[in-house]
Amino acid sequence: MNLDKEIQRRKTFAIISHPDAGKTTLTEKFLLFGGAIQTAGAVKQNKIRKTATSDFMEIEKQRGISVATSVMGFEYNGKRVNILDTPGHKDFAEDTYRTLTAVDSVILVIDCVKGVEEQTEKLMQVCRMRRTPVIIFINKMDREGRIPLELLDELEEKLQISVRPLTWPIGQGMNFKGVYNMYTRTLNLFEPDQTRITDNYIELQDIQSPELERWIPTSYVDQLREDVELVDGVYEPFSEEEYRTAQIAPVFFGSAINNFGIRELLETFLTIAPSPHEREAAQRMVRASEEQMSGFVFKIHANLDPNHRDRTAFFKICSGVFQRNKFYHHTRLGKKLRFANPTQFMAREKNLIEDAWPGDVIGLYDNGNLKIGDTLTEGEELQFRGIPSFSPEIFKEVINRDPFKSKQLEKGVRQLTEEGVAQLFIQHGNRRIIGTVGELQFDVIRFRLEHEYGAKCDFMPLRFYKALWITGEDQEQYEEFLKRKSSVIGLDKEDHPVFFAESEWMLNIARENYPGVTFHETSEFK
Ligand code: GDP
Repeated sequence: MNLDKEIQRRKTFAIISHPDAGKTTLTEKFLLFGGAIQTAGAVKQNKIRKTATSDFMEIEKQRGISVATSVMGFEYNGKRVNILDTPGHKDFAEDTYRTLTAVDSVILVIDCVKGVEEQTEKLMQVCRMRRTPVIIFINKMDREGRIPLELLDELEEKLQISVRPLTWPIGQGMNFKGVYNMYTRTLNLFEPDQTRITDNYIELQDIQSPELERWIPTSYVDQLREDVELVDGVYEPFSEEEYRTAQIAPVFFGSAINNFGIRELLETFLTIAPSPHEREAAQRMVRASEEQMSGFVFKIHANLDPNHRDRTAFFKICSGVFQRNKFYHHTRLGKKLRFANPTQFMAREKNLIEDAWPGDVIGLYDNGNLKIGDTLTEGEELQFRGIPSFSPEIFKEVINRDPFKSKQLEKGVRQLTEEGVAQLFIQHGNRRIIGTVGELQFDVIRFRLEHEYGAKCDFMPLRFYKALWITGEDQEQYEEFLKRKSSVIGLDKEDHPVFFAESEWMLNIARENYPGVTFHETSEFK
């Protein structure tokens, strides 16, 4: 059947990394392989740097780039590849977390000199929570980095996942000679080339074969044999099943900028990575192969240009076939909606599409009906789960600076937080607390409130460390907690109570004193 065939050939994933590890470079090389671009340097840096507030339009310009590269689709060996891009900037981490809810797997890029960095650990936490299969690419092997075995140990320890190398580097830094593919038993020799795809493969039946010495110096051959024997001895044989159930992460070595080790990574990825399968809705599991269309919104991008005040909602198709101009059921609003201009990014171009399949992400033009987390179906009352909010790290109270514009301020704050720019909590009915993961968001909100809603505000910093969603197993204790702690309790957008912990220590005390209350790290719990 057509639907099954289209599902099987689709791979929807994200490349994630700590900034500067090489995510953009790797993305670009994938696009080169896919023929989506012809030369290196074509992918713009999707980087948002912190700039002064006055330079806000610069941020927006950069943000515009990040939208253009939000989803990149291409075809390779009969497979349809959808790369969902994530902003590298830490302040946009929330955006990245949400994008991770829309992928079927992830490639994690590590810099071999720096090893596991702060942002890597956080991103991995989100992957673990959702049991997303992860492939690790250790990049920059042309530089003098840490030794491979040490890096593997660090990965296991800091990322809390078992690893299994599938390629192995021969030498490193100045002496980087190539990678040996333990999966296909082929040798790929290093020939720095930043712009073209080279085909320098040597097939080897046996790593003990003396022929190896024809290609690489004897000392490296000995080392390689020793390493491979060690690795085979230390690590369990690779199991696709364990990878797909997120118990083990295969590891590849290479150098993205030199186009090295990328083919091994891409081709193995396309063979083993999961295609869209099923997704949990509050009511039931929804299989990708179901005839009826369903999907959800995971990102909204507003155009800041005052002359084009439109928004694009990024919609991930979970089952069935999405069709242009067909009416769909918006389950939160109980409304029928149809879309005349759904778009998709193929390579670098934005195209109007007639239909889209499970795993695809399309852009829907929106004039205010769609919110992050919204579900569209062909009529069934479904609500997809797995698009949670995570605790913000910076909290500020909104102070109105223009009493005549309080309605505009309220509307602006509500709409911007619905777009996912930040999270809004309400305390005592009218105190508005905005939570973000970065300072940059406050600049964005202030600017947009002023320019789009004509409202002026200040932000007063609050000394909260985390927001935790609370539920009560012991009703009496729960109610007492809500009453006693009312100065540090607010309501989230769904009117669910949230506890603002002032420190880790305060949180532990609360946990100890109120064992009948459960503190949740994300907004979704069963
Ligand atoms: P991102 O922030 O993760 O997207 O990282 P980029 O792809 O922008 O790369 C950061 C820097 O590392 C850039 O200057 C790249 O040219 C460089 N880089 C990427 N891959 C390699 C590599 O394999 N070797 C070396 N030496 N540098 C690399």
